[in-house]
Amino acid sequence: MSKLTGSKKATQFTESVIREMTRLNDLHGGVNLSQGFPDFPAPAAIKDAACGAISADVNQYAVTWGARPLREAVAREFTRRYGLPIVADEQVTVCCGSTEAMMSTMLAIIDPGDEVVVFEPFYENYGPDAILSGATPRYVTLHEPRWTFDPDELAAAFNEKTKAIIINTPNNPTGKVFTRAELEAIATLCRKWDAIAISDEIYEHIIYDGLQHIPIATIDGMAERTVTINGLSKTYSVTGWRVGWTISPPSLTGAIRKVHDFLTVGAAAPLQEAGAVALGLPDEYYAKLARDYQRRRDVLLDILERHHFTCYKPDGAYYIMTDIRSFGFRDDVEFARYLVKDVGVASVPGSSFYKTSTEGRTKVRFCFCKRDETLTEADRRLEKLVEVQSR
Ligand code: GLN
Repeated sequence: MSKLTGSKKATQFTESVIREMTRLNDLHGGVNLSQGFPDFPAPAAIKDAACGAISADVNQYAVTWGARPLREAVAREFTRRYGLPIVADEQVTVCCGSTEAMMSTMLAIIDPGDEVVVFEPFYENYGPDAILSGATPRYVTLHEPRWTFDPDELAAAFNEKTKAIIINTPNNPTGKVFTRAELEAIATLCRKWDAIAISDEIYEHIIYDGLQHIPIATIDGMAERTVTINGLSKTYSVTGWRVGWTISPPSLTGAIRKVHDFLTVGAAAPLQEAGAVALGLPDEYYAKLARDYQRRRDVLLDILERHHFTCYKPDGAYYIMTDIRSFGFRDDVEFARYLVKDVGVASVPGSSFYKTSTEGRTKVRFCFCKRDETLTEADRRLEKLVEVQSR
């Protein structure tokens, strides 16, 4: 057999469907409601800080685990918001986006044969993350329509091989915000089975209707067994900067930092300086961010419902999962391809968020991190879908 092939690991997963949809969108000149990135400007103060840092020649490597001002800002803000003391030197590691933070964490803690519990539907990266780190995923269903889990099903997914559980709250793609009771149920199992919670909280500030974000690290006994993952991308509308971080118990920080060091050496130094400025923005910035996104959510919900999608109203994050059964297509992929090619609106096929279940084949995900003009243009184009339906 030829050796001129990819590794077994690399052949076990496909390219990202989310990023593929963006490329298809660009090919067909569509309105891109697939990949979740804002099409409006980032705050001027942080762009100025980035330009200032480059001009001031902050252009060489930062310390591999992150520039001190950013690490200290991450620790300070977490403590200020949630009351949990964080020591920047022992607990914060800056990575190239939360994507690398997640991958470095998984590679740092997983041994072959270890199991990792993943809620399904899940953000598509967690699948390849598990394969690349050698973890065996155990999927637990988030049941529609409120995306709740059955405590017995969750308990059944834990055993002596369970090394970690991945949590994502507010959740991509469902918009679910985990309640305190749910996090406590997860925490009980983590403590019982000596498992680690890897908590992706990238949508921390994008949360609606007065709900509060609860980091699982703040639940009793969890600070010592939680790796919290976050980044600048969504909170400050800078997804292309690739600056994220982990907050880990000191017992895990060394392993995460070593893996991170040899994967990427470090995140962009001037952007880390700007990140420290970003984290210092006043509370009103975050309140306005949530208000603006709640309004956009309501705008897109209205658009999609008028065009006959059945919507799952999100409590957080900036996506809307929809049911497409009424359109009569064979599956989500056929529908999403039709939607981008013939209607000119890009979405993400639901199946890319599912592994064990066929539920995704009846769904597509739209994002609403977009200007009003963009959402209005999507509305206009979706008229065509209604015409097709009534033919
Ligand atoms: N998190 C975003 C999404 O789900 C972007 C994904 C990506 O391409 N990194 O669409």
